[in-house]
Amino acid sequence: MAIESVNPATGERLRVFQAHAPAEVEKRLAAAAAAFKSWSRRPIAERAEVLRRAGEILEKEQRTFGAVMTAEMGKLCGAAAQEAQKCAAACRYYADHAERFLRPEVEANGLDAVFFQPLGAVLAVMPWNFPFWQVIRFAAPALAAGNVGLLKHASNVPQCALALEDLFARAGAPAGVFQTLLIGSERVAAIIADDRVAAVTVTGSEAAGRDIAQAAGKHIKKSVLELGGSDAFIVLATADLPRAVATAVKARIVNNGQSCIAAKRFIVADAVYDRFVRDFSSAMAALRIGDPAAPDTELGPLALASIRDGVADQVDRSVAAGARLLAGGQRLEGPGYFYPPTVLADVPTDAPAAREEVFGPVAAVFRVAGVDEAIALANASNFGLAAAAWTRDRAEADRLAHELEAGSVFINGMVASDQRFPFGGVKRSGYGRELGVFGLREFVNIKTVRMADLG
Ligand code: NAP
Repeated sequence: MAIESVNPATGERLRVFQAHAPAEVEKRLAAAAAAFKSWSRRPIAERAEVLRRAGEILEKEQRTFGAVMTAEMGKLCGAAAQEAQKCAAACRYYADHAERFLRPEVEANGLDAVFFQPLGAVLAVMPWNFPFWQVIRFAAPALAAGNVGLLKHASNVPQCALALEDLFARAGAPAGVFQTLLIGSERVAAIIADDRVAAVTVTGSEAAGRDIAQAAGKHIKKSVLELGGSDAFIVLATADLPRAVATAVKARIVNNGQSCIAAKRFIVADAVYDRFVRDFSSAMAALRIGDPAAPDTELGPLALASIRDGVADQVDRSVAAGARLLAGGQRLEGPGYFYPPTVLADVPTDAPAAREEVFGPVAAVFRVAGVDEAIALANASNFGLAAAAWTRDRAEADRLAHELEAGSVFINGMVASDQRFPFGGVKRSGYGRELGVFGLREFVNIKTVRMADLG
């Protein structure tokens, strides 16, 4: 099977890789098992040093890494370099804090304790949309804790996958500590079943999460699922409207509209609805679409033709269900996979744009009376990844923070991940957490040790 790297801005085929043959996968699984024995016993400070060097390389070569992302999945060049920088910060964070996060908690008697010990080889099934960040946010804590990593990256980003393998080798990770498996998704279940694999983490769609959780469950292996979202962006009557509108645009088109935590459902109070819709639609319609490698482009292509076609279909079905199209809505012709910024207003709550995740620059706007209806509508979703809300009323802000069913709530801001804070979802957005101390604790054996009668 061939794994192709295609530039989504032009449709040009960049590179073709042969998928790893079964013998090569076997070699890599054996190397992972062998590497775990010594890597897990190394002092934490030595493991941290590898991460620190990986961070330095990411920082120094951010533009080179960024160019690979832009070429392979269409991320804007500025955002791609920023992604490499963010990865560098996460590597530094775990290098700085791993020792503290992994320190045994010893009782005053000096005998009873809780240890945090690595599990083994962790398989990471990763998406193309943040092709470096998603991988680093699993790899930095997992490796710091003494696990080894096996990366099965999305099939459209093989160059990113290989660049990451090379990054850890250059940072001084011993052979087998971080390896890429160039394989299709149909081979994932067999890897999970292998005795040399201890756990699996997946970031991707609900369908992938379901299959992977099933395979992990069958073999009683730990899994973390970071799946899709249809995040609410709530704008209430007291909101700072110009800031809310400017942030709404950014929050919808981040990563060309293909972020799990992009705002997707805009839930707006009646008192400000007409002004919000007018200003938001005109700002969306004014965005500069084009070559993601050009520094002044504001919206690049979607990563795959199939994603562009899926988004177009969701918009068409939403309009047929009664949504009012205020901007965009027609796919752009040409060799690249471009779709224009699109605004759908007065979206019926059973329309596809209300119920499904729309992974492109399409905003669905809903009118509500006030905070009660806003919370009810935001929670009327199968997903529960994150939510943002705009209000200057403290009591409302407290209610939103408590009552929104999501892994993160941002008041008067745009949802973003940060290496210091846990990240993950509830409901069909998955389970488990990445980042912060919680991300590191997902892939450790939390071991109780009690000693007595030692003489
Ligand atoms: P995807 O199609 O599910 O692919 C993600 C990864 O899973 C790829 O490596 C893919 O491999 C693999 N995969 C797909 N189906 C599989 C299966 N049945 N069994 C085993 N592996 C399978 O998702 P995507 O289109 O790349 O990414 C977009 C999705 O990821 C969106 O839903 C987005 O919201 C979500 N996401 C979530 C987070 C989060 O933190 N919660 C972050 C980013 C993205 P192939 O490429 O070889 O098919």
